[in-house]
Amino acid sequence: MSALLRIRWAIAPRTAPQPHINCNRCGGLKAYRCSWKFRVNANGKRIDAWLIYRCVDCDNSWNFGILERCNRRDIEPALLMALESNDPALARRHAFDVIALRSRIRRVEEFPEVAVHKQMLGDRLENTTVLELQLGLEMPTSLRLDRLLASELGISRSRLQVWQQRQLLAIGPDGTKALRKPARMGTAIRIDLAGEPDRNDIISAASA
Ligand SMILES: [Zn+2]
Repeated sequence: MSALLRIRWAIAPRTAPQPHINCNRCGGLKAYRCSWKFRVNANGKRIDAWLIYRCVDCDNSWNFGILERCNRRDIEPALLMALESNDPALARRHAFDVIALRSRIRRVEEFPEVAVHKQMLGDRLENTTVLELQLGLEMPTSLRLDRLLASELGISRSRLQVWQQRQLLAIGPDGTKALRKPARMGTAIRIDLAGEPDRNDIISAASA
């Protein structure tokens, strides 16, 4: 009897997207990096808040609008406190909001590298030959599923194709066509490793 091992992969992007802005200090199109700091401006009852970006070359700043001319009464006190204390979780949520960034800036560079935290949902047994990987995403990523699997399992992408052809690989709910698309929340990947001589290495890579 072969045993199945379930592992949850919690995936978080490593590097925040960088808008490319015409820098008026050093001249020309330059990448701007998130400073992870907010600027809050209270003008009477009106509140503005921005996330500050800085030119990678000259430190010139660009303000990414978070609140614009909002009435103080309409803002949750906890939100205002988070803005004023540069709350890292709030900064992270806005810094990785590539859709909002793209609505202001035409050119935004995204970085596909991710950190994967792996948690086994059962025990690894001697007869474990089937893996089920469950993907959780902190936020959307542009990283393709086949690249994610290849790098985290320590195998080549062509080997994934071989598994796909031999029907050793099943992907829910979207099927194996999901391999060539960005990794998505809730995807489950099942791999039958019974015939793979290096299965112990692959299971170790998948779980730690
Ligand atoms: Zn500059």
